[in-house]
Amino acid sequence: MSKKITVKKYDVIIIGAGPAGLSAAKILAENGKTVLVLEKNKVIGPKVCAGGLTTKDFKLGINKKIADKFFSKVVLHTPLFDDEIKDDKPFVATVDRGRLGKRMVKEAEKVGAEIKIDVEVKDIKNAFVEIADGKKIYYKYLIGADGSNSLVRKILNIKKETQMIAFHYKVAERLPDIELFFNAELFGAGYAWIFPHKDFTSIGCGADIRFLVDAQQLEENFKKWARENYPKVQFKVDDREAWYINYDYRGHEFGNKFLVGDAAGFASGLTGEGMYFAMISGIEIAKKIIDPEYNQSKLKEIIALKKKHEDILNLMEKNKVLSQIEYNLLGLAQKSRLLDSLLIEEFC
Ligand SMILES: Cc1cc2nc3c(=O)[nH]c(=O)nc-3n(C[C@H](O)[C@H](O)[C@H](O)COP(=O)(O)OP(=O)(O)OC[C@H]3O[C@@H](n4cnc5c(N)ncnc54)[C@H](O)[C@@H]3O)c2cc1C
Repeated sequence: MSKKITVKKYDVIIIGAGPAGLSAAKILAENGKTVLVLEKNKVIGPKVCAGGLTTKDFKLGINKKIADKFFSKVVLHTPLFDDEIKDDKPFVATVDRGRLGKRMVKEAEKVGAEIKIDVEVKDIKNAFVEIADGKKIYYKYLIGADGSNSLVRKILNIKKETQMIAFHYKVAERLPDIELFFNAELFGAGYAWIFPHKDFTSIGCGADIRFLVDAQQLEENFKKWARENYPKVQFKVDDREAWYINYDYRGHEFGNKFLVGDAAGFASGLTGEGMYFAMISGIEIAKKIIDPEYNQSKLKEIIALKKKHEDILNLMEKNKVLSQIEYNLLGLAQKSRLLDSLLIEEFC
């Protein structure tokens, strides 16, 4: 990785070196395309994220060795009861985003992708991007993999009306289990979580602030809940991180420009899960650039899955009073095989 850009025109320029951008870069470079990834940060990887992955993420080729911890149990809490989802084998893991980023960079560079750090894209025109020093770099195709606050999406003039807000504290205390807390009164349609890592525990909460609680209320409710449930844990302001999770998907292909990952709104509005959707969309769109006839069946699958998640949210928005009860009762559904497999396959 370096800052120096030598070539003037690339087959594909990718803005953003998150899981979406790096997944796309690897596939494109592997297939002989000249690829340039531009990342505004000096270090690739670290990102506000609880770092929860499931089996399906590893099926995309993430090396299990980089995981912090594996779990074969998720503890669920609702105001009505507590329960556990268990499997014989581990089905959830936590990963350090820094380590994941480093690994993905290595894999993309190995097959020929060029990745430049500390380069912020300031403007985008039809055939070139303009970086901070005013320099122009030309492309045939552009992929916007620049996250929830995407510049590419803004320049394409794609609206964003819904998104989740999520925050967490990376506390030093080591807690043993992955735990999810559903309580509509406190967290609206969202939930709080405990995600233990090797060196810290992510304790946080995320919700679509359209539903039941606003951002300030969510923060206050979280603090109250955290003080009551974890009186010995120090929740220091310096350990707090927050960011948006964009799930407002309005298309991904716009002429020679594409949006992937959070930039496109591929995350789930129900669970806040984004890494899997980011990687799948990166891979699928890269394949489409390589072969315009490629049918993108996996991309269609995640769009359909997102729609299911959002149907649940929309139902809740239509009936805000009932939804409090419904969401608390959602925990009951976990008794059924359906939610068991939903959690095992799709959560975190
Ligand atoms: C608190 C919190 C907890 C979460 N927990 C989980 C979880 O447990 N599991 C999960 O799957 N998902 C989780 N997510 C969601 C997940 O982090 C995102 O969905 C995922 O990172 C999206 O990947 P991406 O590649 O699309 O974007 P990002 O990972 O956001 O990467 C975008 C990159 O683009 C770069 N960039 C932006 N603008 C420019 C520019 N103009 N020029 C150059 N570079 C630019 C950024 O610096 C960044 O590196 C969580 C999110 C939050 C906020």
